[in-house]
Amino acid sequence: MQIGGWRIGKLAGIDLYIHPTFWLLVLWFGLQAWLIEKSVSSVVENMLFILAVFGCVTLHELGHALAARQYNIQTKDIVLMPIGGVARLERMPTKPLQELWIALAGPLVNLFIAGVLFTYLLFTHALSMTGVSIEVGSFAMRLMLTNLFLMAFNLLPAFPMDGGRVTRALLATRLEYAQATQIAATLGRAMAILFGIVGIMTNPFLLLIAFFVWTGAGQEARSALLRSAIAGVTVSQAMLTQFQVLSPTDPVAWVLNQVSTGYQQEFPVLEEGQVVGILTQDSLVNAAPNATLEVTTVANIMRRDFLAFSPDTTLEEAIAKMQAAQLYTAIVEENGRLLGLLTPESINSYLMYRDSMTQRAK
Ligand SMILES: [Zn+2]
Repeated sequence: MQIGGWRIGKLAGIDLYIHPTFWLLVLWFGLQAWLIEKSVSSVVENMLFILAVFGCVTLHELGHALAARQYNIQTKDIVLMPIGGVARLERMPTKPLQELWIALAGPLVNLFIAGVLFTYLLFTHALSMTGVSIEVGSFAMRLMLTNLFLMAFNLLPAFPMDGGRVTRALLATRLEYAQATQIAATLGRAMAILFGIVGIMTNPFLLLIAFFVWTGAGQEARSALLRSAIAGVTVSQAMLTQFQVLSPTDPVAWVLNQVSTGYQQEFPVLEEGQVVGILTQDSLVNAAPNATLEVTTVANIMRRDFLAFSPDTTLEEAIAKMQAAQLYTAIVEENGRLLGLLTPESINSYLMYRDSMTQRAK
């Protein structure tokens, strides 16, 4: 987890992380109880209650993760934050019906927990509906209502809530994926504005939710747009075909001169027609202040762990691998023959000019 979560264990083989600010929420609930009731037992009960709520949130996320596993989609980790949990799936489902079931699995877990608590309350004759709310009532009663609230909130038909995914999945059975996403994201923004207005008038916590919904809706729309933009594109379509190559024996001083006067920043290194490495911008920058530049050759500083794709690799797969390896440039080759370079710029210019090229071809 990059944002500094604490790993607290594994659930069904999935790493579980807690964001440090989560504990502030637990403390806040304890403090609130102290200020109102001035008793240690109420402080403990309130803190236990919020932990129980997040236990339910964890099970909700586990519901998503296990549903995804049914479709051979693994979950990287589950992260708990004060505003809720996130199950980070390794990839997004491609079929609308799969997305529908994965999205519904979380809220269904809350419904199930509420059902279990309801049965327990019914058999212990502790079920009373008068004067009960999420704040007032027995522990089990409050937890049941909280689960019903969690289910209803998550089913709101807007991104980034589960209901937004349900909406998109249903729309995507009839519309194009990107269009379905746009509609669900627009609904998300409209709902964020509504939360914001109600939040200003009533509960400031709603403002936080409004912010979360607004940014989440935008992120989802952007990643779906990119996904549909590169769907079906292969690396041979988006690669750079005019570029300079280096030999392992080229002096670095000479390369630095080339870089400062040319447009190319990273170079494939060829020996007898075979790619043996990539001279990256990072290694050049690190080598630049070196006093022995005249005697340093490309072979001394090039990166030998480069990525090579065949021309028919999908762009989606290539981008994911380049991001994971933190490589800026990848090689495209066929039967050991160098065909092109794949870089963020080459992908960008392909996407920028593709539409005008296809229009001209019509
Ligand atoms: Zn969910």
